Amino acid sequence: MTKTIAVNAGSSSLKFQLYNMPQESVVAKGLIERIGLNDSIVTIKYGEGQEFHRVLDLPNHDAAVDVLINALLDEKIIESFDEITGAGHRVVAGGEIFKESALIDDKAIQQIEDLGEFAPLHNPAEASVIRAFQKVLPKAVNVAVFDTSFHTTMPKENYLYSLPYEYYEKHKARKYGAHGTSHQFVAHRAAEMLGKPIEELKIITCHLGNGASITAVENGKSIDTSMGFTPLAGVTMGTRSGDIDASLLPFLMRKEGIESIEEMVNILNKKSGLLGISGVSSDMREVEKAAEEGNERAQVAIDIFNNRVKKYIGQYAAIMNGVDAIVFTAGIGENSSITRQQVIDGVTFLGCKIDEAKNTGFRGEGIISTDDSTCVVLNIPTDEEVSIARDVERLKNKA
Ligand code: AMP
Repeated sequence: MTKTIAVNAGSSSLKFQLYNMPQESVVAKGLIERIGLNDSIVTIKYGEGQEFHRVLDLPNHDAAVDVLINALLDEKIIESFDEITGAGHRVVAGGEIFKESALIDDKAIQQIEDLGEFAPLHNPAEASVIRAFQKVLPKAVNVAVFDTSFHTTMPKENYLYSLPYEYYEKHKARKYGAHGTSHQFVAHRAAEMLGKPIEELKIITCHLGNGASITAVENGKSIDTSMGFTPLAGVTMGTRSGDIDASLLPFLMRKEGIESIEEMVNILNKKSGLLGISGVSSDMREVEKAAEEGNERAQVAIDIFNNRVKKYIGQYAAIMNGVDAIVFTAGIGENSSITRQQVIDGVTFLGCKIDEAKNTGFRGEGIISTDDSTCVVLNIPTDEEVSIARDVERLKNKA
């Protein structure tokens, strides 16, 4: 039996899932946190509720990969390194180069590093994790799966900003989007659940997690998405502002004595969104709880969040001239019945109506709109890791 590891590396963390392929059964999954800091935390769950937990200093991603791979062997999760024949790596920025997942060779890894300009916190870390895997598993096939690939089908009128054209020509300044693996996964699953070819459907996918984005999927292709040049744009998120008027930045910098544009952008990325508005938390569960207890700012944060999601659904129904299905996914989408209800209640003109009995408390995969809805609303748990593992399987044969 062969195993494939799906790896999702951030600037200071590394998440993974190890699968038996092609069965797609999960053998182990885990998380390494605080890479590059003291007291890094390694957690691996496997078998029948077994857990490997260590706190140690991991100075860089190389050390983290080393500890991870050796723990798999020491805990007898694998018997030899040769069992892992494939490693799939989530990469945030693929630019205009990577229109689909790619086998990693020297050129690809260099391109991923060069694209670090578009995702400075992510691409360099991802490249160093890929190199680390190449070192510890020299026989395994490494594949990069890009957050942006699914959106490379967007037409120019949707990916270009209304800026001097030469900025696009000279610097590739444009919309790239993100969460592509998730949007692609749930859109395809929605078509399967509806029993219709995806090529005949207009679908709006709402990935509502700590990061959130909405995508218009027409005929199986992403034609527009709410995130932009970076994942800062679009709807309100846990700590990110989403869309704002750029003229606010110099105004606020003057008023608040914010000295650099980097510091300002950091505020938009880390201190805004649900956290900034509510003053309570970036976590929707906590914001919902505070709102229930009468916290007005928490309620406003929820209202703004729902309002921005509704606006994007409206926009995307307009550019597709209709919508057959709306899909909710990710932490908030999959779990918050209130969010789903309030969003859909605001867009019933599209032909969708929430079935309260089906929606309330619902988790998992299913249709949550009434039988007479002409636009079907679905709840579909996303599974980015299995998508990554599938891409490794598919590309392995071409290696
Ligand atoms: P993700 O980034 O996909 O892991 O999603 C994280 C977000 O999902 C956080 O804002 C969580 O508060 C939210 N979330 C998870 N479970 C629930 C729930 N039962 N109700 C509301 N929000 C939830």
